[in-house]
Amino acid sequence: MISLSCVSVEYGDKIMPLDDVSHTFHTGTTAVTGPSGSGKSTLLRLVAGLQNPTAGTVEIDGEPVGRASWFSAGDPRVSVIYQDYRLVPFLTVAQNLSLAVEARGAKSSTDQIEAALARVGLPSSMADRLPGSMSSGEQQRVAIARALAVESPVLVADEPTGALDADNTARITDVLLELGQSDDLTVIVATHDLSVAERMDQRINLGAGLLVAAA
Ligand code: ADP
Ligand code: MG
Repeated sequence: MISLSCVSVEYGDKIMPLDDVSHTFHTGTTAVTGPSGSGKSTLLRLVAGLQNPTAGTVEIDGEPVGRASWFSAGDPRVSVIYQDYRLVPFLTVAQNLSLAVEARGAKSSTDQIEAALARVGLPSSMADRLPGSMSSGEQQRVAIARALAVESPVLVADEPTGALDADNTARITDVLLELGQSDDLTVIVATHDLSVAERMDQRINLGAGLLVAAA
């Protein structure tokens, strides 16, 4: 359970994308919708411990998220998935996954990497491919597998289907939904694609600094 209590974020003088927002995210999938500039990415960065709120608190299971700092890669309980995948282009799929695991101070194994790939529907034969040789849908699956390999209980995905065609958007949404259902994960997905948002278990909608609707 992730709790935001009276959270505000202010950039400079007037820009306040989040103004006294409180919300609890539960296991399963939640879509965060809202127009461009409404604070979706800001909210995800707060949950991931990549940014501190100006006011208010963000907690995961009652413990504050790690304070953001220049040397921090965010709270280890959270993995982030980006629209542009952010795979290291000169490392193979397997190396991309092990790098993420090892960056968190753990040891990676071939079994663990193959299991993570299987969970997103990729065959182990893809482990030795380079990202540039894969389709965009496949690269996004690798990015999700990388997030799974580090075994954090929370996944936040910022416009994960923003660069994908309709078929791949549906497939990646299937993967995220399945993770939310089967693995006790909390999956938060910022998206402006209503076809994605409407399939999630829960939805919140941001606008004018406020959480304007939750369903
Ligand atoms: P969304 O993801 O919904 O498009 P963002 O969270 O990226 O919204 O941005 C919300 C608002 O905050 C925008 O007006 C954006 O320009 C501003 N903003 C985001 N990050 C920064 C920053 N580091 N410095 C100043 N303004 C920012
Ligand atoms: Mg954004």
